[in-house]
Amino acid sequence: MADSHAHVLALAPGWDREAVRVGLRAVGAVASDSAEIQALLAYTAALPLCRVVGWHPERRHAEDRSALERFLARLRPSGIHAVGEIGWPRWAAPGERPALERQAAWLVPAWLAWAREWDKPVVVHAVGADAVRRMLLWLRRYGVRRAVFHWHKAPAAWTAAVLAEGYFVGVTPEVAWRTRDAVWARWARPDRVLWETDAPWGHGGQPQSAPADVLAVAEGLSRWWRVPVERVAAWHTEAWRAFWGISDGP
Ligand SMILES: [Zn+2]
Repeated sequence: MADSHAHVLALAPGWDREAVRVGLRAVGAVASDSAEIQALLAYTAALPLCRVVGWHPERRHAEDRSALERFLARLRPSGIHAVGEIGWPRWAAPGERPALERQAAWLVPAWLAWAREWDKPVVVHAVGADAVRRMLLWLRRYGVRRAVFHWHKAPAAWTAAVLAEGYFVGVTPEVAWRTRDAVWARWARPDRVLWETDAPWGHGGQPQSAPADVLAVAEGLSRWWRVPVERVAAWHTEAWRAFWGISDGP
């Protein structure tokens, strides 16, 4: 069992021991700006981490386009498992949105080019149909073959488009009760569904989550697919290995 998406630098101390205690074997650890990337490369935990590095699309980054290009020219691929989360902004205040969209227009291509150069999968932030459509076009243009649409929230037709391209869909504990997720989760290819918490983001009325909460995803999928949790976990192992391009774990 594993959580493919957690902002580990923002988690309370001890999150990793709790994750091990409930049976997690790995965590996808996300860094969202240049300073976090440096911190994450030096960070260790009680279980293996798959390091995901990028510039978050909902954040205004102090550096400009040429600073990002210089940063990427220096960024070594060893110890980095994926690029992300990158994508299209959604949650910003209306006044901030135009600037974030202008930023995304140079930020996403620069990171996709780096992902393609080093053959890294990509963790995509794309809320809603328009963002999914944009990101699918970009992924195709840059020839990125492995990508997960993290915390997937698009209408079912766009979920179908993501899966038809062979990409992955990330689901949080909300899959257990949110009707829209229940609809597409019934027909999704099980080996293209990744479990995640986006910790410390909260789910179901909880103020915060931790990677250990990912077990609720397994239970939710087990109900929708009407198969035992062990079967769901075996499919997740296939999805995990295919996404990160590794032959063992989690
Ligand atoms: Zn995230």
